[in-house]
Parts: sequence; C-alpha cells; structure tokens
Amino acid sequence: MTLPTDQLHGAADTRTDATVVGVTTTPLTASMPRPWVPDAPWLHVIRVEVECSDGTVGSGLSWTPTIGAAAVRALIDTDITTFVRGRSADPQHLWPELWRHLHEAGGGGVTTIAMAGIDTALWDAAGIRRTASLVDLIGRRRDSVPVYGSGVNLHYPLDELVAQAERWVAAGYDAVKMKVGKPDIAEDVDRVAAVRDVIGRDRRLRIDANQRWDLPTAQAAIDRLSEFDLDWIEEPLRADDTAGYRHLHGSCTVPIALGENLHTVHRFRDLLDAPGVDIVQPNVVRVGGITPFLEIADLAAERDVPLAPHLLPELSGQLAMVLAAETEVEAVEEADLTALGLLAGPAPVRVDSGRLTTTGAPGCGIRLVGSPAGRS
Ligand SMILES: [Mg+2]
Repeated sequence: MTLPTDQLHGAADTRTDATVVGVTTTPLTASMPRPWVPDAPWLHVIRVEVECSDGTVGSGLSWTPTIGAAAVRALIDTDITTFVRGRSADPQHLWPELWRHLHEAGGGGVTTIAMAGIDTALWDAAGIRRTASLVDLIGRRRDSVPVYGSGVNLHYPLDELVAQAERWVAAGYDAVKMKVGKPDIAEDVDRVAAVRDVIGRDRRLRIDANQRWDLPTAQAAIDRLSEFDLDWIEEPLRADDTAGYRHLHGSCTVPIALGENLHTVHRFRDLLDAPGVDIVQPNVVRVGGITPFLEIADLAAERDVPLAPHLLPELSGQLAMVLAAETEVEAVEEADLTALGLLAGPAPVRVDSGRLTTTGAPGCGIRLVGSPAGRS
C-alpha cells in the first residue's frame, strides 16, 4: 500500500553539487552516572566530521555505547573514507551507494552504525547549507512531542527502583519503562508491582526484557506480568528470532515492541510481515542514520504500525517532530549526550514537564566535545 504524502515524512531537499573532501573521526568516552550494567560504567561515541567541497563541515556521530567503537571507527577511517571522498555530499544520494559498497562486510550492525556517522554529518551539512534545522529541512509536523521515562535498571535494588519511579512521576511523564528478566520471574512480578504502585493506574507502564527470554519463558513471564496492565513488552526474545516472534505474536495479550537491534529496513519488513511486532523502535544510528530511519518510518506508516524511536533524544526528538503520527521519545535518566557531558555547545532539544521541544539550531545541532577518548 502506498500512502498519500501527507501521511509520510516530508520530502527533504538535500541536493547539492558539493562533494565529500575529507572525513575526521574522534573517539569519545563518557563516564555514566548510572551505569547500565555494573561492570561497564563507560559509554562510547565516535564523533564524525565530514568536510565538503563548498567549505561546509557537517558533524555527525556513531553511537557505540558498550561494544564496537574501535571496529566502527576503523571502518569509517579506511573503507568508508576511501569510498566517499569525491562523491556527492547529498546524504540521500550517497547512502544507497555506500551501503552497496560495504555490503560484503555485512548488511547491518557495525556497517550501518559506521554509516550513520557519515549520514548524520551530511544531514547536518545539508541543514547548515540552507540555514535550516533538521526538523525544518525535513518538514516540521509539530512543535513538541511527549517524552517517556525509561530506566536501565534491572540491577537496581528494589528501593532504588522505587525511587526512580518516584522521580519519573515528579518529572511529569505519562508513560514509563522498566527492565525485566530476573532469573526468578517472581522477582520480576514484585518489581513490576512496586513500580505500578508508585505510578498509579493512570500512567502507562512498559517493560523491556532486552532479549533475555526464550519462547516458553517469554510466554510464561508475560502470562504472569500481564495483570499489571502493560502498554508493551519490549524485546522478549532475541531480535534475530523472527520465527519466535511470529509464534509469540500469535498468542501474546501484550503488544510487542521491537527494533533497537534491527539494522535495516529489510529486517523491519520481515518482522512486520511475520507478523511479529506491534510497535517498531528503530535506533537512528544502528539503522545507518537519518536516511534509512525515514524510510523505516514510511514503512511503519504504510503498515499503520506505531513507531517509537530508540534512545538518543537529541536526534530522535528532532525526527519525532517530522513524523506524520505523534510518537513518544525515550529518555533514559542521565544517559543522553547532554547529561553525559558529551556536547560542546547547547543541546538541540529541551525536555520540560514531560515534553520535548527543539531549539532550531541549524543542521542536527549536535556538537560533540573534541577531546580524545579517555577524558574523565
Ligand atoms: Mg530496549
């Protein structure tokens, strides 16, 4: 089915005669105030700057929170830089050429995470060239979007989990998300009950298993947890297990959210066709940048399936402004680029009373700090 254009994202004009002159990468590491896992208190990002023949310099990023930063940077510095030098600086023109060139190394994963650094930098350059924010370059649909509170909190003791839920309520969120997947499902039941108790019946509650369960475990766990009026269950199974999702989808009473570990529009189509997913959650970096993110958004709109972007609110929040359907942006406490001290200038988005707005800075508006890896 092809939707009328008013139900898809805007048709961004990124055409340019400029070509890519050079690419510079800088690895950055931030200490996490609230580590996602107890033994990995660091988050890694690759800053990618692309210089164009018209003198414009676009700044982008490859987000590699715990795994793969060195491999991603090496791919950008070698094969990608060699290929893109002298080619069009139009991100929508370059993306399919670069993907075809790299495909032998893998259609998604490290390949697309590395491509995102180039793609986001070229979208930034396109906005700077036109003195337009990313939102206005693509086509603004709204002036603010709701934010939901999200916790990477499976390792939190119960009292810390409850305290976090209290902070979410105070922050004005209408929806929140917590981790599940303890070895004993009874502990998950206690923790979900505690958070539901804090947030009350009127706020929506989502749970995220981060691919921890097999099919029988997921079915049993969801049976137990569904009494808490869940808005969605996220990644109950391995993201690769399309057959498992098809089975689960056929019997599950809770909507299934999935997508932060799908890397191409083809994989999103596979899961939608299975059918195995009710809410798609692309991560703008993992899918290869803004160009493929918008393609996935159009696919979701065509299938009438909600899209909820995964993390990176500084970028995802801007993209949420251009989507035809309103969506909620995910905010993990003290884990965005702003809170981690990775921005050299003001953030391109603001969050207040549970809603996100943009500042209108040209391009993507994300200027990462320039100091090398290892800063503290
Ligand atoms: Mg998740």
